[in-house]
Amino acid sequence: MSKTFIPAAKPIIGEGERAAVDAVLASGRLAQGAEVAEFEKEFSDVLLDGRAAVAVNSGTSGLHLGLLAAGVGAGDEVIVPSFTFAATANSVALTGATPVFADIELDHYCMDVDHVQTLITERTKGIMPVHLYGHPANMEAFRNLANSRGINLFEDAAQAHGASIHGRNVGTFGDFGMFSLYPTKNMTSGEGGMVSTGDPAVERNLRLLRNQGMERQYENEIVGFNARMTDLHAAIGRVQLTKIKNWTKQRQANAAYLSANIEGVKTPEVASGAEHVYHQYTIRIPEDRDGFAAALKSEHEVGSGAYYPIPNHRLPSFQRPEDLPHTEQAAREVLSLPVHPSLSSADLERIVTAVNTLSEAGA
Ligand SMILES: *Cc1c(COP(=O)(O)O)cnc(C)c1O
Repeated sequence: MSKTFIPAAKPIIGEGERAAVDAVLASGRLAQGAEVAEFEKEFSDVLLDGRAAVAVNSGTSGLHLGLLAAGVGAGDEVIVPSFTFAATANSVALTGATPVFADIELDHYCMDVDHVQTLITERTKGIMPVHLYGHPANMEAFRNLANSRGINLFEDAAQAHGASIHGRNVGTFGDFGMFSLYPTKNMTSGEGGMVSTGDPAVERNLRLLRNQGMERQYENEIVGFNARMTDLHAAIGRVQLTKIKNWTKQRQANAAYLSANIEGVKTPEVASGAEHVYHQYTIRIPEDRDGFAAALKSEHEVGSGAYYPIPNHRLPSFQRPEDLPHTEQAAREVLSLPVHPSLSSADLERIVTAVNTLSEAGA
């Protein structure tokens, strides 16, 4: 019997999500309404220590509106990592501001505080670290830097639902934090995003910007978007929220098993005091990463992904001349293995055998 393919990511949708969507359909009230309001409250309770949460139609909208709500616009610079999904820098560029690309550190693949410090100019409005792969960026250092330079701190927490530093959740350090609810993220609403903020003015701006600038119907106060989440999506998200803590424990247990048994390649490190939620479990393959990934699939039926093979500063959409050596190295070498909560122990054994067999053959 041939082995079944183990995919790199796998959204888990159960009967609860189906029933919740059906109930909204039966109610006939599909657009932003009571489900969205409940989802915001519950997300805040479960993942944000009670900090306010505003639901939007995607993570990218969340970053874009968060930046606008915090006053970012043309003439400003926002420092972001180059080693991330393009949505991070795109959202800055969409406000009219300029994304300035910083390098990462190679232990956790998050933005390098020392390098960020050298990039601050009189135009710098804020710093936006990404909690890449579910590992928190060094937010205590970034908060100190932002305070000492009088600039804003934002968080791209798209991949880091429930990650924390010394027990404090990501999404509660910045002026705002954004969580993506795209299907391959640690939890989903289909498409969607949640923006956390402790600043009532930013929260009010976010609510206005997502709904054409209206708090009361047809009394538009500012120019805004339609970035509303639907009640259908919120209903899915509410069910997923009841499972996120257990799914995170399962991801962490899967990661612990992989790290204890994989040999011959660099496995993920966790900073002291940090809780990693393993959106991705990322190893490094110094020679021929793409060949290694192809062999994982063709010889062992194990899926994997290179996130991200082209750094943002090298993309056709940005084309910047910067030299970011750690970013370039990571883009060449990283490979993420399946770590999602639906892996069986047989799947985990197969992943370990596949990686160890290939790394030994290459050594
Ligand atoms: C997924 C992701 C986003 C964008 O979220 P969407 O919900 O897909 O719009 C932004 N930043 C990072 C780091 C992401 O992984």
